[in-house]
Amino acid sequence: AELRALLVSRIRDVPDYPMPGVTFKDITPLLADPVAFNALVDALARLCTRHAATKVVGLEARGFILAAPAAARAHLGFVPVRKAGKLPGDTLGQSYQLEYGTAEIEIHADAFSPDDRVLVIDDVLATGGTAEASLDLIRRAGATVVGVAVLLELGFLGGRERLSAVLDGAPLEAL
Ligand code: 5GP
Repeated sequence: AELRALLVSRIRDVPDYPMPGVTFKDITPLLADPVAFNALVDALARLCTRHAATKVVGLEARGFILAAPAAARAHLGFVPVRKAGKLPGDTLGQSYQLEYGTAEIEIHADAFSPDDRVLVIDDVLATGGTAEASLDLIRRAGATVVGVAVLLELGFLGGRERLSAVLDGAPLEAL
């Protein structure tokens, strides 16, 4: 409860960003606060341990900022899921629906070994489309998803319900 209050106090609401009527949750004050940032990275690293993860996946771009230090603190490797066209090796791709148009994300096809257990980390769960597509990529790359962890869940957008259909029993942890 103490961690939660600290994290919430460092997230800023930005009205009408990126478009009128949307309130953006800005995590940069949290990242800039050494106590809050460290507490968040610690909590994410504990989730890695609790779920016996062997690899941590971060979702571009803000997911990288959280997933990479959490992976290092838990003594695990980090694997990026990137926007299409950014990874140099052989990739697997997945497109998904945005409010307007579509997006595509990719992962290196050789990112995992078959016994890898993956925790997926992103900053914000909104509609769940990004996380859902990433689960698909990770499984196609041959690994097991042991959980999805986010700093913040925007409950009114229904991401948890959408993800529950594809989590296959793995937990969704919103700090
Ligand atoms: P979804 O695919 O769940 O609809 O959108 C989640 C993605 O959009 C995440 O990668 C997240 O970084 C970004 N996102 C959507 N809304 C917000 C927001 O209010 N604040 C932040 N920081 N990211 C957001």
